[in-house]
Amino acid sequence: MDRPWLSFDLDHTLMINPFRRWVFPEISSWLAPFLGPGDQPMERFIAERKKRLEAQQLSASYDWDDILLTVSAELGVHPPFTIEKLVRQHSATGKIWLFSDVLPGLSSLQTKGIPMVAATNGFAKYQRPVTDHLGLTPYFKDFHTPCSVGFAKPEPQFFRFAEPYSLIHVGDRLDQDILGANRAGAISVWIDRDLPAEWHELSPKERCFHPLFRSRVEEKLAREGWHSPITEENLPNYLIVSIKEVLTIWKNHH
Ligand SMILES: [Mg+2]
Repeated sequence: MDRPWLSFDLDHTLMINPFRRWVFPEISSWLAPFLGPGDQPMERFIAERKKRLEAQQLSASYDWDDILLTVSAELGVHPPFTIEKLVRQHSATGKIWLFSDVLPGLSSLQTKGIPMVAATNGFAKYQRPVTDHLGLTPYFKDFHTPCSVGFAKPEPQFFRFAEPYSLIHVGDRLDQDILGANRAGAISVWIDRDLPAEWHELSPKERCFHPLFRSRVEEKLAREGWHSPITEENLPNYLIVSIKEVLTIWKNHH
């Protein structure tokens, strides 16, 4: 019988990284004196990233050091740090954290010997310092990232690492995790820890038939900046509120 692999998105699925609260503000403070009045440092960053996304250069849009160098070069300056170094500095207790269900959930999966991998759009050099500090790294056989795979979610090629085995992918983003997993023919599992309590009594499958499921999907996709029509490809196979629910799903497909 097939023994599916499990892959996990990292950011907002398992952990909170230091970028938004610590790394980006530090870059902003450094860049600000080189900009004109009213020019926002992070807007420069976002504009460069948007350019890469629009050019379909998905992997390059996660290469934050290259984005920093490009923006700095436009201003005729050179950063005295790398983003990789900032991430290492800020991968510290109190600045990054795990959701409380993560270690119990991953431990129970690990005791069953289920092959687990991290499948993230963050480059390994930015993710490993965080997962190392949080004690997550040992749970994963491998880290699949745009820098190792050459593709990024939601490109279906990103998920080819599990072949010839089937894959169950767990993530928080409908436009990346769920869309990519569905396009790759994997089982897609959406984690939404903010689901109202009444949904918790339903099974992860039943939640996808809740009368408000569709509107919840629409609201999340809108927050993610999705402007295209919503199709079957945007809909997860399962909806969970905790990593502890993954084992039951895995057993359904084993
Ligand atoms: Mg995520």
